[in-house]
Amino acid sequence: MAEPTIFKRIIDREIPAKIVYEDDFCLAFEDINPRAPVHLILIPKQEIASVDAISPEDVPVVGHLLLAARTIAQQLGLTNGYRLVTNCGKDAGQEVMHLHFHLLAGRPFSWPPG
Ligand code: 5GP
Repeated sequence: MAEPTIFKRIIDREIPAKIVYEDDFCLAFEDINPRAPVHLILIPKQEIASVDAISPEDVPVVGHLLLAARTIAQQLGLTNGYRLVTNCGKDAGQEVMHLHFHLLAGRPFSWPPG
């Protein structure tokens, strides 16, 4: 069997993380290497490797992630805006093979990203 990802281990509370939001379907925690004053990682509890691995049955949980992102942004008072990013695959720099959104805020972000 494949080794559990670091994010699966956070879901299972095998390794610590600063969890800021949790519900039945997802979890959000502070990134260990923040790139902005607010840098959260939002993940489904269901194991989905990346956007490439989403199947039609996963659509409700993926939609739920977006609503959770908005809820978190509202709870944190991110009225100046925020950026949601998901890296998919090698060229995008995906390191952890568990679908996740980076929720970044607290400073202006340039476009296009590097
Ligand atoms: P990716 O490059 O896969 O899109 O992003 C993975 C993110 O997970 C990176 O921003 C990295 O800092 C974060 N990360 C990696 N390992 C850990 C960890 O053990 N704990 C936390 N909180 N974040 C992690």
